[in-house]
Amino acid sequence: MINSIENVAVTGGTHGNELTGVYLVKHWLSHPEEVKRPSFLTELHFSNPSAIDEIRRYVDQDLNRQFNIEDLNNPDLRGREQQRAKYLNELLGPKENPRIDFVIDMHTTTTNMGTSLIFNSGDPLEVGMAFYIKQHMPDAALFYNPSDRLQDNFLRSMGRLGGLVIEVGPIAQGLLNYQVYSDVQTAVMHALDYLELRNTGQDIPLPQKMEGYRFLKKIPLPENAEGEIDAMIHPNLQNKDYQAINPGDPLFITLAGETIPYDGEQTVYGAFINEAAYYDRHIGLSLMEKIQISLEGQHS
Ligand SMILES: [Zn+2]
Repeated sequence: MINSIENVAVTGGTHGNELTGVYLVKHWLSHPEEVKRPSFLTELHFSNPSAIDEIRRYVDQDLNRQFNIEDLNNPDLRGREQQRAKYLNELLGPKENPRIDFVIDMHTTTTNMGTSLIFNSGDPLEVGMAFYIKQHMPDAALFYNPSDRLQDNFLRSMGRLGGLVIEVGPIAQGLLNYQVYSDVQTAVMHALDYLELRNTGQDIPLPQKMEGYRFLKKIPLPENAEGEIDAMIHPNLQNKDYQAINPGDPLFITLAGETIPYDGEQTVYGAFINEAAYYDRHIGLSLMEKIQISLEGQHS
C-alpha cells in the first residue's frame, strides 16, 4: 500500500548548540532545490530559535522532551520550550492528527556514535527509511527506541506517519565539523529520496532484517551523598559506543581512581557514552541490546 505523504518537515536546532542542523537548515533555505522532491512538500524549520540565538541546548527546558500529548495540552506548562512545543504543535500538528506526515529531526552528539538512525516504531515506513539509509551508509547504526507516538515526548513524534532522528557524532557542542555536516546532509538526502520512492509506489529493494540496537535504559553517573557526581566514564569504555559491555567490564572510575564494573548479568552495548548534554541530569550512558530489526516490525 502506498502511503500518501504530502508534507515533510526537516528540523534543525531542536538543541540550540547543535550547529550542524542549524546550518543545514540555513543552507537549504537558500538552496531549496536540494530538499525538494516532486511528490511532496519539504518544510524547513529552526525548532528552537531562542536556544539557537544563545548557542545553548535549551533556555528553560529540553525542547526535545516536551511533545507528549498531555504536556502539549497542559496550559500550566509555560516555560520557554514548553511554549515553543505548543507553537510547534500548532505549526506541525496537532499531535492527535498532524498536518505533517513525516519529521526528520537533525541532531549531533559529543559521543562516538557515528551516524545513528533513531526510530521509535515498528512501522514499515519508518523502519524502511532507516534500512534504506543504512544501505547507502553501511556504517550507520540502527537505534530502536520503542514508544507510543502520542506519549513520545520527542519532536520526531509530531509526524503523522512517523519520524526519524538523525544523530551524528562525535562533535563538541557549538561547533561545525564538515565530516559531521556532510554525514547529516547525506542521511537527510537519502531519507527524502526514500519517501519519494515510497510515495510514488516504486519498488524499493530492502532486506527483510538488519542488525541494530534496542534501547534498554539510561545509567546514571555515580553520585556521592550530596548528590554530586563522584565518578566518570572509565577510560576503557570512552568512545566505545555500540561495542559489547560484558558483566564485570569497567563502567566508571571514581575521582579516587577506583573502577566500578558493570554489574548486569547479560552482555549489553553502550550508546551516548559520556554525552556532554546529559551531565545536567547526571546520566553516564545508555544501555542497548543487539537485535535483528525486521522490516515488518517484529524485532527480536
Ligand atoms: Zn540533540
